[in-house]
Amino acid sequence: VEDEQYLCSLIRTIPDFPAKGILFRDFIPVFADARGMDLLLEAFVRALPVKPEEFDYIAGLEARGFLLGTALARQLGKGFIAVRKAGKLPPKTVSQSYELEYGTATVEIEKNLVPEGSRILIVDDLIATGGTAWAAMKLFEEVGCTVAGFSFVMELDGLHGLDQLSHYPTSSLMVMP
Ligand code: 5GP
Repeated sequence: VEDEQYLCSLIRTIPDFPAKGILFRDFIPVFADARGMDLLLEAFVRALPVKPEEFDYIAGLEARGFLLGTALARQLGKGFIAVRKAGKLPPKTVSQSYELEYGTATVEIEKNLVPEGSRILIVDDLIATGGTAWAAMKLFEEVGCTVAGFSFVMELDGLHGLDQLSHYPTSSLMVMP
């Protein structure tokens, strides 16, 4: 409980960022704190929705999924795949667009980086609508991989982000409004 409180104390809440009316949950102080990062990784490993032997790679969503994903991959002895926002990877890539509240966004992975048939665990700091995670899933399926599951630190309440991923094992450490 003490560890849990300590970890939660490192998560900042910033009102009206990046736009008015949005309550932004900020995990950067967790990564700045050695004990906080340890606690986060321990809790994340305990909560994994599948056993480590059930996936081959960890994929992290830009940008905080990179911080979490590489640390986790190192701990579990897996490779790490970066799911990037469009236009940042050298060719060849596969792309997937998804709906935002206003407009669309696109994510990409490198085409020939992961062997076909690999099993992927997708991780990120936070799931809101689930659009980003859904798009990442489509990317891996398009290159012949299977998604073993999804793991998040935080789930935003009331947005039903995990509903879009209901065919997959999922986990999140905490639910916040
Ligand atoms: P979704 O696609 O599920 O609507 O949004 C999730 C994506 O947006 C994730 O990549 C996540 O990092 C980012 N995101 C959305 N809202 C927040 C927030 O309040 N805090 C943080 N840290 N990331 C957010």
